[in-house]
Amino acid sequence: MTLSYGRQYLAIPGPSVVPDRVLNAMHKAAPNIYEGALVDMVPGMIEDLKNVARTRANAAIYIGNGHAAWEAALANVVAPGDKILALTNGVFGHGWAEIARNLGADVEVFEFGKQAPVDLARLAQVLSADKGSKIKAVTAVHVDTSTGIRNDIAALRRVMDEVGHPALLMVDCIASLGCDVFEMDAWGVDVMVAASQKGLMTPPGLGLVFFSHKAGKVRDRMARVGSYWDWRPRARPEHFYQYFGGTAPTHHLMGLRAALDMIAEEGGIQAVWARHEVLARAIWAACDAWGNGGSLAFNVADAAHRNNAVTALRLKSPLATELRRWCEAKAGVTLGIGLGMAAPDDPAWHGYFRIGHMGHVNAHMVLGMLGVIEAGMKALGIAYGAGALEAAAAVIAEA
Ligand SMILES: *Cc1c(COP(=O)(O)O)cnc(C)c1O
Repeated sequence: MTLSYGRQYLAIPGPSVVPDRVLNAMHKAAPNIYEGALVDMVPGMIEDLKNVARTRANAAIYIGNGHAAWEAALANVVAPGDKILALTNGVFGHGWAEIARNLGADVEVFEFGKQAPVDLARLAQVLSADKGSKIKAVTAVHVDTSTGIRNDIAALRRVMDEVGHPALLMVDCIASLGCDVFEMDAWGVDVMVAASQKGLMTPPGLGLVFFSHKAGKVRDRMARVGSYWDWRPRARPEHFYQYFGGTAPTHHLMGLRAALDMIAEEGGIQAVWARHEVLARAIWAACDAWGNGGSLAFNVADAAHRNNAVTALRLKSPLATELRRWCEAKAGVTLGIGLGMAAPDDPAWHGYFRIGHMGHVNAHMVLGMLGVIEAGMKALGIAYGAGALEAAAAVIAEA
């Protein structure tokens, strides 16, 4: 017998749940890409995307996933031999560094482990020691989806300003955009990358790159940038897709239009952030209770360094794989695998899992998901502390 029939909840940290409204918006006949509704729609979307990213600067849309956005961002400002300082505390920081290395950059990886955010004092030391300002760009991940660590991007900028370092600040917001507070202009971010399939609730297939005036100037001084990655024509996609860039990602644009409408109707990006914040706290309240005398623990102990899109967890008993499979097969909730904490062939792999709570998620989904995890732990004999669902409900009631 299974209790999984009914609506499924894909509670992995990306791709996230796609709203019916987004799916329906994509269920359309192929549009004319040269004139008409699709072409007329794109300029307004660029403005709405910039509102979500909290920037007045530039936005470029690529047909690609987050990896494509990583490469696009670097390809415009990093030439072979340029020095990059890659701040890492999870798989995705390393992934971006690897892309930079393969573009020929001289990448220095600055590792902060899997449990803590970037250490600002150590960053200040490294930047001050870079006497001739050899470092051209600092790459950082706002929320590393593998570890669940959130880095303080505003503070990174303050450190760079305090030591007077001119490097570009490049930030991966692929997990956090549309989930966690992010202020591109106010925080002084030069380049930000995102993708459609997490907080933006649209299927994977669009990579987004936002870039400041300063980053635009750096691109203008590049000796060469490959045609496909060049962000200059893409920052005007209403023109780009008709004449220079190949076929527009027609249906993804339709889906993203619907997702941006949903964000606006919710009350704008601040309202969306507020919803994610409460739901994250409800999940953490439950996890705190389960962990009290039980098997469960947070990867990031200090809630101040967690984020509102994904929670990375550990079980002292290596039953996380069984728990994920139980939740999916018996109850229709798919939890995320642990990523980067142990190799898949290491028995320790089975001690980790993650909960995705990004995008199209509400209180009943979160409470249902938490109830399913508790049922799964009971069924599998995993020890857990009492009062988790009550604690989560209290967070939601108070909000
Ligand atoms: C998902 C994710 C990526 C990779 O995105 P893809 O679309 O899978 O290429 C990169 N960085 C972060 C922080 C992510 O969450």
